[in-house]
Amino acid sequence: MSRNSQLARRYGTPTYIYDLDQVRQARRDLFAALPEAADLFYAIKANPHPEVVRATRDGEGRRCRAEISSTGELAAALEAGYVASECLYTGPGKTTAELHEVIGSGVALFSVESEGDLRRIGRVATARGVVVDCLLRINSAAARASTSIRMTGAPSQFGFDSETLAEALPRLREVPGARLTGAHFFPLSNATDEASLVGEFQHTIAVAADLDRQLALPLKLVDIGGGFAAPYAVPGQRPRYDKLRSELEAALDIHFAQWREGNPRVAVESGRYLVGSAGTLVCQVVNVKVSRGRRFVILDGGINSFGGMSGLGRLLPPAVRVAEDAAVEPATLVGPLCTPGDVIGRDVPLPELTEGDLIEIPNAGAYGVTASLLAFLGRPAPTEVSIRGNRVVSVSRLEQQRRYGVQ
Ligand SMILES: *Cc1c(COP(=O)(O)O)cnc(C)c1O
Repeated sequence: MSRNSQLARRYGTPTYIYDLDQVRQARRDLFAALPEAADLFYAIKANPHPEVVRATRDGEGRRCRAEISSTGELAAALEAGYVASECLYTGPGKTTAELHEVIGSGVALFSVESEGDLRRIGRVATARGVVVDCLLRINSAAARASTSIRMTGAPSQFGFDSETLAEALPRLREVPGARLTGAHFFPLSNATDEASLVGEFQHTIAVAADLDRQLALPLKLVDIGGGFAAPYAVPGQRPRYDKLRSELEAALDIHFAQWREGNPRVAVESGRYLVGSAGTLVCQVVNVKVSRGRRFVILDGGINSFGGMSGLGRLLPPAVRVAEDAAVEPATLVGPLCTPGDVIGRDVPLPELTEGDLIEIPNAGAYGVTASLLAFLGRPAPTEVSIRGNRVVSVSRLEQQRRYGVQ
């Protein structure tokens, strides 16, 4: 029996297994693909499990900072050993109450999405007697990416439209409690290849340099975003980015003569690259049935355990790991929920399966448990097992209260 099957038999299914050594390896690989002077923010939304988050920070070599977007993510970051001063707080809908909590906890760097957002941050900071650093998130009019998930160049709840920034900037500079210290870009997620990733970064760096020259936007920190890719629920390896470092250095040398001295400091962000390939989801076959000639394999985990993103059409049909010599036939792979929407994949090539068999969905370490429809139909959350080598580091399950608490 494979290690994953043994763990699933021991701790029950559905279960996520996180190999923390692989998180460390991904972090090493990504830092090696970046300039020495660059900061790397781990986007906690990709996987907020405490051991996974800890593995992005602890251990030898360079350390990540944390990109967070809620009080819950701040708690996850702090619990895993990040300190508030390492966090970048982002998001288009920051409320006054959450700002009080996070500024009170010592978060002092924000990505700002609009004038209203900046004013609210400034008000809360002022009320608490501090001044916080703010990066203006830029929605560049000239977004370059034509592939992958595209985040800018169109109307958006994210960021300031670059074409109207000049008009707004004098007002933005005067907001008490909020000091403008840089720019934040996040135009691309999950780039299709290294060339498109490099192209997007080159474009972003040029746009940032324009802001510096034309608007004299204070630039102490330029966060040029991400786009680092990872296979999602299909077999395969994280991409290697062999040219990225030298291409980034060349683009930065052209536009920012002193960036190597930290003027400005340059940062990038990643979620899925750091944690995606570290996770495997193991589910158990509950039932197999044939309906009008089509085989349905019914698992104990579906979109309640994996694939809120599947409901959003973001998830490719997973390829399930099967023995190399196994004869396969297409089947519809579904979860246990009472909705026809609980489909993990159609026409998935699967071997003969019977009740009790285990199937493994690889590369499920990012956008798994917390991106799923956890409460839908009231089943428990999947188990999460963290391992390092052959040692089990933790076994946990996200608890949901089925009671309606009185507020
Ligand atoms: C979601 C998000 C990320 C992480 O995206 P990945 O594709 O998982 O790397 C990084 N930065 C911001 C601002 C995000 O919203």
